[in-house]
Amino acid sequence: MFIGHLPAGYLITSAILARSNARFKSKRAYRKFLWIGILASILPDFDLFWFYLIDNCQHLHHSYWTHIPIYWIGTSAVFLALGYALKNRTVLLGTTLFSLNIFGHLFLDTIVGKIRWLYPFSDDDLVFFDVPARYNWWVWNFVFHWTFALEIILTALAVSLFLKRCHRGTPMVCDH
Ligand SMILES: [Zn+2]
Repeated sequence: MFIGHLPAGYLITSAILARSNARFKSKRAYRKFLWIGILASILPDFDLFWFYLIDNCQHLHHSYWTHIPIYWIGTSAVFLALGYALKNRTVLLGTTLFSLNIFGHLFLDTIVGKIRWLYPFSDDDLVFFDVPARYNWWVWNFVFHWTFALEIILTALAVSLFLKRCHRGTPMVCDH
């Protein structure tokens, strides 16, 4: 997925925050959670820096630990346990937003990318749809594949939600 992660993160985070019964004391507190969710939605792709700058494009970046679910399951479990042990609602909400956005990212990557959902039990890459190599530049193969419409839909939904909230002057999102 190319352009869909960030808008998906905005949609997922907004939906969770709208349904959570957390009471935000300030616009800053709300935005802090919004940013946790949005950043988590693109976090696994930070491995592209490693891929291009260090690894010299030797391995698919989806094979790095940052794109392997079991590591995020472990991280989420630790922070959820911590949140419950401390009865800390901030940690629980932050972990929920973080985890759901990470798994949202990995799910969206599974549509045409390859994700090792069964690791460490299996090294098999799981993918919903294979994208045929039709163009010289690999990016066009994905951009002209029908699944790219999903990315456009996600982007349009996120932009329209943001604009609607701004238009309404929804507290916590827009300044006016
Ligand atoms: Zn990714």
